[in-house]
Amino acid sequence: MGRAIGIDLGTTNSCVAVLEGGEPTIITSSEGLRTTPSVVAFTKKGEILVGDPAKRQAAMNSENTVFSIKRRMGTDSRLHIQGKKYSPEEISAMILRKLKKDAESYLGESVSDAVITVPAYFNDAQRQATKDAGRIAGLNVMRIINEPTAAAFAYGLNNGESQKVLVYDLGGGTFDVSIIEIGEDLIEVLATSGDNHLGGDDFDDRLTDYLISEFRRTEHVDISHDSAAIMRVREEAENAKKTLSTATTATVNLPFLTVTHNTPHHMNITITRAKFEELTHDLIERTSLPVQNALRDAKISARDLSKILLVGGSTRIPAVQEKVRRMLGMEPSRNINPDECVAMGAAIQAGKLTGNLPADSTANAMILMDVTPLSLSIETVGGIATHLIERNTTIPARHSQIFTTAANFQTSVDIKVYQGERQFVKDNTLLGNFRLSGIKRAMAGVPQIEVTFDIDANGILTVSARDMGTGKAQQITISSRSNLSDSEIEKAIHDAQMYESDDSNRMERFTLHSDCESLLMKAQHALNANGKQMDRQEKKRLKSAIAQLRRSVTKIKPASMTDEQMQTLQAQKSELEDAVSGYVNVG
Ligand code: AMP
Repeated sequence: MGRAIGIDLGTTNSCVAVLEGGEPTIITSSEGLRTTPSVVAFTKKGEILVGDPAKRQAAMNSENTVFSIKRRMGTDSRLHIQGKKYSPEEISAMILRKLKKDAESYLGESVSDAVITVPAYFNDAQRQATKDAGRIAGLNVMRIINEPTAAAFAYGLNNGESQKVLVYDLGGGTFDVSIIEIGEDLIEVLATSGDNHLGGDDFDDRLTDYLISEFRRTEHVDISHDSAAIMRVREEAENAKKTLSTATTATVNLPFLTVTHNTPHHMNITITRAKFEELTHDLIERTSLPVQNALRDAKISARDLSKILLVGGSTRIPAVQEKVRRMLGMEPSRNINPDECVAMGAAIQAGKLTGNLPADSTANAMILMDVTPLSLSIETVGGIATHLIERNTTIPARHSQIFTTAANFQTSVDIKVYQGERQFVKDNTLLGNFRLSGIKRAMAGVPQIEVTFDIDANGILTVSARDMGTGKAQQITISSRSNLSDSEIEKAIHDAQMYESDDSNRMERFTLHSDCESLLMKAQHALNANGKQMDRQEKKRLKSAIAQLRRSVTKIKPASMTDEQMQTLQAQKSELEDAVSGYVNVG
């Protein structure tokens, strides 16, 4: 097998690495850079430029220059450029093709195998789209791994001790936080969280807006509709932002930014770091919640962390580092390069998969364990999402649970598979469904149907159902959990938090209603079986309690149950429990 490369396909910048002498090494681009801007441009002459040359001509050719394509991966959106349509996969493939070519000229041999990294929060459709982009670029994508996991993998090799590490990854377009346990021979992701719409681009936007408004205030010229001028300002805003990471002031100097009534206007604005921090304060604050969520899901507190790794170019911003320090009470680690460690981790994983790691490398013994980002469930009576695999479960994972039928003589069941955190399936995303038929005719509750969820190392889910009575089985593979975009994932988690109390209210009503139904069944059965021996008074009480509760259960619908109706049901249920207590176990 030839050498395989590791690719960090970033929103703003991409990076490629390979193992050399057992050590991950960054491959410099044909322009001599260690990272490649994730920018593609279509010139007027019909040429396609990728990377630095594309970025440099952006201001002159803004309408034919594509930035941040990663944000569109996994969607069915199309870009219309010079009369042609391009999918996000095709644009990403152009970036990947350049990285592949740069690797080939660096190594002096052809390259086809690669490991590509994605944000931990990427859903199946986005991972699938990334794989497809690789295929379009002529790469055999051996594995898709999570960016923070790759960073930890690069770090794990330098460090033998077992420890819990928080990876705080603020890149150009996304924020990811992962809590990872690095053991002697195991890297395990304990939890991940993030915000797929937060990154360096947002900081650039804030600074751009500020510069435009300052320009309007001082020059009395509005350039907010001049896309070429905005592009130039944005480019300089990004440079100023970077300058402010090391200096306390930065000057944006753009001569001849625009011309009005034959008068040229120049932009010359000095920004202080304090002003920049004021403009972006809320963006930095937004990283708090995902950090707290990840700690909570990993069931640890900040005190249990032994290291914080900063990944992504935006973690060079001093206010970001200060925020991390304040939030977690610890100095973040500085011994890995935030722009390069993800590609390096991917290269190690690539070397491991192709058997190119030196025999004595600690990475050979290391097993990488990732997690599934959202809970997986099936629909049960009342539209309830019954979880089989919880969010942040280590994959590969397998879990089985026994279910039964809800109606008498039911010979088939529909298995509907959902992804999401809400308690009711209607609020989650349907991944697929199938029918298990041929169940033996029996009373409700008698058949035993075993449902099994199986997720492999690439996150592909297979669901199977088996009637334990007849041995009949059915299964589906949900190979593409498509079109659940990153914002939908975020929304799913966000909504779940917001509606948690509302959901538990509804849950209580559904549970009460179905408890009443099953009590009625038991009580009727007890009456039929023991009626003859019962004392007249007792029998009368039982009959009337059954009749009363049956009337209410038929009339009251769980979804619209008022507080008053809930109290009525509770009272009638207690009465029936009392009346029947000598004959059945109602506990
Ligand atoms: P990444 O996707 O990890 O390559 O991160 C790219 C983002 O990091 C872009 O928004 C860059 O503008 C930002 N970035 C790179 N270097 C710096 C720096 N020195 N200070 C602030 N932001 C930076």
